[in-house]
Amino acid sequence: MGWEVFHKNVQYKVGVGDKVKFWKDRWCGDLPLKLAFVLYKFAANKEAFVKSCFICQGVGDRRIWDVCFNRGPNDWEADVVDEFLSLLASNLPLGTDRDSLKWKLTKNGDFTIRSYYHKLYGSSSVVFPCKGIWKVKASRHVSFFVWTAVWDRILTGDNMRLRGFDFVDRCIMCRGCGETVDHLLLHSGKALRLWCFVFSIFGISWVPSCKVSDFLFS
Ligand SMILES: [Zn+2]
Repeated sequence: MGWEVFHKNVQYKVGVGDKVKFWKDRWCGDLPLKLAFVLYKFAANKEAFVKSCFICQGVGDRRIWDVCFNRGPNDWEADVVDEFLSLLASNLPLGTDRDSLKWKLTKNGDFTIRSYYHKLYGSSSVVFPCKGIWKVKASRHVSFFVWTAVWDRILTGDNMRLRGFDFVDRCIMCRGCGETVDHLLLHSGKALRLWCFVFSIFGISWVPSCKVSDFLFS
């Protein structure tokens, strides 16, 4: 499950070429060759491994491509053939190491859960207001509290209930609707009046953000 999404971030690194399919796996360029080139239609062996598509020849075992087709190209296909050959020319496998997988989301090609998580949940959740939490002139325990609030982990009613406490679904400040971190610190009547008061001192008109993290950014 999830292989389709996972697979998009993987590129094959061809060494010997006996594990990677020439047409079907993505090993050079952004697409598998079968999708990138119409030449696939008349490939002699659609299941061929990369290894069987090049030969070693002459002095020093010089490697050259040897891809077989059922027919020669037509005149109007010359451009495609050109493009195909130049792509291959710049991607000649070394022919020594084992074939391996390369993770595209990290610089060194190694898989990390962090990089995949960020990819899955989009760039919006990657952005975290570190600066607004830790690079401020406030004591550490204040910063720590704000950090906990941004992660939605302070002990508000909803979080207490998640931990199994039998808790009335009511805000301690306004006795109104359910108590969430964003409600208690931003939207609850008293909190909102406090923020408006603070900002008005500096002559700033503002609109409350939806979440504590957005608030720190703004
Ligand atoms: Zn409230």
